[in-house]
Amino acid sequence: MTTRSETQTTLDHLLTEIEHRNPAQPEFHQAAHEVLETLAPVIAARPEYAEPGLVERLVEPERQVIFRVPWQDDQGRVRVNRGFRVEFNSALGPYKGGLRFHPSVNLGVIKFLGFEQIFKNALTGLGIGGGKGGSDFDPHGRSDAEVMRFCQSFMTELYRHIGEHTDVPAGDIGVGGREIGYLFGQYRRITNRWEAGVLTGKGQGWGGSLIRPEATGYGNVLFAAAMLRERGEDLEGQTAVVSGSGNVAIYTIEKLTALGANAVTCSDSSGYVVDEKGIDLDLLKQIKEVERGRVDAYAERRGASARFVPGGRVWEVPADLALPSATQNELDEKDAETLIRNGVKAVSEGANMPTTPEAVHLLQKAGVAFGPGKAANAGGVAVSALEMAQNHARTAWSAERVEEELASIMTSIHTTCHDTAERYGAPGDYVTGANIAGFERVADAMLAQGVI
Ligand code: NDP
Repeated sequence: MTTRSETQTTLDHLLTEIEHRNPAQPEFHQAAHEVLETLAPVIAARPEYAEPGLVERLVEPERQVIFRVPWQDDQGRVRVNRGFRVEFNSALGPYKGGLRFHPSVNLGVIKFLGFEQIFKNALTGLGIGGGKGGSDFDPHGRSDAEVMRFCQSFMTELYRHIGEHTDVPAGDIGVGGREIGYLFGQYRRITNRWEAGVLTGKGQGWGGSLIRPEATGYGNVLFAAAMLRERGEDLEGQTAVVSGSGNVAIYTIEKLTALGANAVTCSDSSGYVVDEKGIDLDLLKQIKEVERGRVDAYAERRGASARFVPGGRVWEVPADLALPSATQNELDEKDAETLIRNGVKAVSEGANMPTTPEAVHLLQKAGVAFGPGKAANAGGVAVSALEMAQNHARTAWSAERVEEELASIMTSIHTTCHDTAERYGAPGDYVTGANIAGFERVADAMLAQGVI
């Protein structure tokens, strides 16, 4: 039997090899480190996981597609973007994971997101594999017609690789209900099939699930509440800082408010807003979802309780809870120090990998409850899987039923991560718990299905 330290040495070699084989992909390296650094105890305890090639297969995507996306802007000029779909692991079910449209998208970013997605999807307990895709297209400032032409061109290539039993994309940064609509329309036109289960996050009149837009934010708040309960506290009366002002941030604020907490911030790439009275969601939704404006407009229209801080980070606002809900690496070591100094009790990740490894380490060392994204934000993909189930059965569930299922899935993810961490000698460490529990489920399926 191999010891923990021998196993860790093998994993360290593998990490070095990953860096060599995947040059210039720092986000993917970061995600691989974050997972592999926590797996030694389970691999040392269960010899079948030490089988040569198992972890090596897990870190290599099953398939990666990169394609040209040409489209015409409103002036008739031809633009060329790059499209990606990384089909990372299908041991548990069809590849499942969102599409991101943002200028920062490249292969390394999509691979980090796809890798995280494998473990997140495993934690939901549902039958979904891991994948991710997107483009370096920037929807900001583009007309609806331009976004539609881009989506149609993107799907004209993507359709060959996806399908309800193969690969089921959804939204992510820059891809919301509008984009999913255009993508679905083009898929239907090319294939001449009403294949509702090929995309999730659809509109409610045509195959979308109730509570899917809310699911990621709601789920993250439920996860944060479960972490607080472990410490004998609840959300009532707690002050929360939330970053971002997109899909995840908006529904995080909505659920925090519904459960009696006071969410006092939101942000976008221009800066942040702090509102002592709590964020007015009707106003924020109007500015972000209807007008597609910037957060400074919120402060202008809200009155004396709110102010806009250009270029600042929400983490400087004192709070009991922090829920990063914008993008990767948005909360660093300095931010963690500020949060700790201000007495933060819990940090729960709505976004994917928003907290740098150094910041996670500091928060955990200071005794702050830390919910990693692959567990805390899994509610979105879980309800996407419920949307697939409804599409398959050609039925639609009530909002109450979906919300109950979401709550029960989030409770079960919390318990699984909590208990797994304890079982492997790391009580209270949700990062280790999430990585090991997700790994066990995928690894068992991969071992059973042979070397493929
Ligand atoms: P949206 O596009 O709806 O919103 C993203 C928000 O984050 C916007 O306010 C945006 O501001 C801000 N943001 C994005 N990139 C940056 C950046 N580089 N710097 C500063 N601000 C930035 O995306 P979502 O809310 O859907 O996604 C947010 C996060 O949650 C992502 O990490 C995503 O992967 C993760 N996630 C989303 C799920 C979902 O169901 N949608 C599921 C699980 C995780 P601006 O408009 O100025 O760019």
